[in-house]
This record gives sequence, C-alpha cells and structure tokens, in this order.
Amino acid sequence: MSASLVVLGSSGAVQTAHRDNAALAFRMGESSVLVDCPGSPFLKLRKAGLDPMLLRAIVITHAHPDHIYGLPSLVHHLWMLARQEPLPLFAPELDKLRGLLDVFDLRSRAGFLEMHPLTAGASSPTGDTASPFWEHAGHRLSALPSDHGPPAFAIRWDTPLGARVVYSSDTRPVEAMVSFGREAALFVHEATFLEAEALRAAEGGHSTAAQAARLAALARARRLLLVHLDYRADAAQCVEEARGEFAGPVEVPDDGAIYAVE
Ligand SMILES: [Zn+2]
Ligand SMILES: [Zn+2]
Repeated sequence: MSASLVVLGSSGAVQTAHRDNAALAFRMGESSVLVDCPGSPFLKLRKAGLDPMLLRAIVITHAHPDHIYGLPSLVHHLWMLARQEPLPLFAPELDKLRGLLDVFDLRSRAGFLEMHPLTAGASSPTGDTASPFWEHAGHRLSALPSDHGPPAFAIRWDTPLGARVVYSSDTRPVEAMVSFGREAALFVHEATFLEAEALRAAEGGHSTAAQAARLAALARARRLLLVHLDYRADAAQCVEEARGEFAGPVEVPDDGAIYAVE
C-alpha cells in the first residue's frame, strides 16, 4: 500500500472548534508512525483508518503540552489492548515524558514502550546528510534541531521510493530546513502567525506564513502545508501570504486531511 501523510491536527497551542493541536501520522502501508501526541491520538488514528495497534514508532518533536499531553492516553489504550510488540518512542527531554507516564504508572505496565532520546547529534549542521534515527523497510526518519526554545526537532521522512516529507514542528525559521527539506513532496511547516506579527512570532519561537513559504521555495518543495495556526488566524489569509513567496500549491489542511506521498 502506498505512503501517505495524515494531518491529525493543525492548530497551535490553543484549539478551535475545527482544529485540534498539531500532530501528523506517516502512513506506511498498514502501519504508521505518529508524530506528536496531543489529545485522543487513538481515536484520531482510527478515524484516519489506521490501526493504532500497528503503530511502528512514536516521534515527539518537543515536550510542550500541546505536543505530548495525549501520550498517557495512547499508551494506556495500547496496554488495555495487550500490545506486546515493541514500540519505540523518540523524543527530546525524555524525563518529562517519563514523569507524564508515571502519573498513571504506565511505564511499569507498558513493557512494550522503548524510549529513546532524540538528540542534536541526529543530523549534520546543514541537514544534507542527516543520518536516520529510525528505519523500517526502506522508510527512514531523520531529525534536524529547530529553534523554538526547548530542545525541538524538525522531522524528515524519506520513503523507499524516494519521496520526502518534512515537518518543521514549532520553530523560528531555520536556514538548514532548505537542505533538510530539499525537493520535498510535502513541506509541512508551522505558520503560527502572519508577517504583521513577525516580532511576536520571533519572541515565541514561531514562524510566519511568509517565512515558512520562503523556506519551501528555497528548498524547491513541491507542495506547502501550513499548520500550527494561532487560534485567531484566518487560514485563507495565511495561504494568501504564503503564495507571495511560494509558487507551488499551498494549503492549510483541515484536520483529518490525507495526502499521498509520491
Ligand atoms: Zn506547539
Ligand atoms: Zn512548542
């Protein structure tokens, strides 16, 4: 089965009636990798037609609440369903995740969960030769340190057929995203604010739609998806601003949107 990207959520830290906190699933045939873990990940995967029991890995880009608070729920679900198959989890600041799981005594119960640190050593400074931190059946995941405040990473998914997806997660614009995301089929970047609030974006460790689009253009990405929008943002304005910098297709995906990766 083909590879696809599922947008499980597209809002910034504050949800709206139609957008849940940003998270993605990388679908690889029957199985998938979950990238970030806000509310109800089990439900979201099911709604997307993915079997959570077939998750192959969990990647946490950084330990802010809107990216991790659903983790205990997911681990609890998998434990309730008696998952045995090892499930690697990659994240910076593992201590915070351990603390979160320990509130519910889940680490001792969920013997399947294998926690690995996601560190700055995962990639070269330019992002060109980022060595994968995870591989399965020709699918490779690599990480690039981003510029957000706490330790945080952009994630790249390279498929066995040579297609590429990159996800910035929360970050100020990072030059190395250009080589890290070179010719990506899907360039998924946060756009928490518009240029009118560029100062606010910089202070908060975020990007504007125009900044995201500039990076996508330099990377010669094929399609730009803007996520992690501020709850007051207007998606159409966000797309319009990005179109001024990026000539290819630009969208703010709805939650639940699915994109073929080819
Ligand atoms: Zn966030
Ligand atoms: Zn954050």
